Amino acid sequence: MSVRAYGAIAAHQPVEPITIPRRDVGEHDVQIEIDYCGICHSDLHTVRGEWGEVRFPCVPGHEIVGRVSKVGSAVSRFKEGDVVGVGCMVDSCQHCHPCEEGLEQYCENGMTGTYDSKTPDAPGHTLGGYSQRIVVKDSFVLKITHDASQLAAVAPLLCAGITTWSPLRHWNVGPGKKVGIVGIGGLGHMGVKLAHALGAHVVAFTTSESKRQAALDLGADEVVISKDKDQMKAHGRSFDFILNTVAASHNLDAFTKLLKLDGTLCLVGVPEHAHPSPSVGVLIGGRRSIAGSLIGGIKETQEMLDFCAEKGITSDIELIRADQIEEAYERMLKSDVKYRFVIDNSTL
Ligand code: NAP
Ligand code: ZN
Repeated sequence: MSVRAYGAIAAHQPVEPITIPRRDVGEHDVQIEIDYCGICHSDLHTVRGEWGEVRFPCVPGHEIVGRVSKVGSAVSRFKEGDVVGVGCMVDSCQHCHPCEEGLEQYCENGMTGTYDSKTPDAPGHTLGGYSQRIVVKDSFVLKITHDASQLAAVAPLLCAGITTWSPLRHWNVGPGKKVGIVGIGGLGHMGVKLAHALGAHVVAFTTSESKRQAALDLGADEVVISKDKDQMKAHGRSFDFILNTVAASHNLDAFTKLLKLDGTLCLVGVPEHAHPSPSVGVLIGGRRSIAGSLIGGIKETQEMLDFCAEKGITSDIELIRADQIEEAYERMLKSDVKYRFVIDNSTL
């Protein structure tokens, strides 16, 4: 079957209305009518070729919320009408060590991303959530229990939420821990909300003076304007953990210096150009670590969704029409969004 979508048909082309194929529903498949799809900075990096070669047509979108319209004969966990989500992955080998641990994002045989990944389905690569409908293997579909009125604001949890939740949990962020969140964009604003909900002392680092009050409203205990050397210095050697979501290359030493003994700076932002090499002196001077983290597994994504539903946590969003996606990209590049654009897929 073919469905309406927004995608780029070639390099250096804007996203535009196109028609794409979707596979028929197989035994283990769930067919989903997409209501909302968040816009992640990864969509922009990908479709504009900042991370290397891209397969066209390119239909981004991996923060998907919708309703089940059909299930395969072997599917028992979902039925028509269920509200569900799909995040950054739609498949993995499911038998390697990471997959068995529920960490499919680190599949040793390569997980299948929701867009721009190889697949046997036409046209040979996956096509994401800027579309009317998607067909996904049941084990990669998430249950959504938030109130129906919140669904647009739930969509960003499927990437921005889990990408910050997974490292916060892995590094045991909670009461008694001082935690920094760097870059208050789509990922960062979720990082602040989740770290706060987990009970940590949260410090938001932003380059935007205009986000100071907003970051406090999100749940930050303190806000630091990261361009201000004196404000940075005041927090020297004090953090257990810092999560860095910045989408552009920058000096990491400014943040590693703020870690206390054995502290970790975890990078989740994936800039087009490499960061300047960090100083070894700063790292050895406190047995500090720089680490990285990729989205999160399906099991922990469900845990995060359930935690957020229980605590009433959603993303702060600006709902847009599909014909505003390119404008949204430009505003995202200027850090001009509080804090996530979400597409109303009925406008496709
Ligand atoms: P976003 O909404 O654009 O937020 C990025 C934030 O970084 C901006 O709002 C801004 O915050 C800050 N920033 C931007 N340019 C900066 C600069 N030159 N110097 C310092 N700070 C700057 O992007 P996002 O959707 O949150 O994604 C962030 C990054 O994470 C992207 O690279 C994306 O591809 C990546 N990502 C990674 C994963 C993963 O699994 N690891 C998953 C999803 C996304 P302030 O205004 O507060 O300074
Ligand atoms: Zn994303």
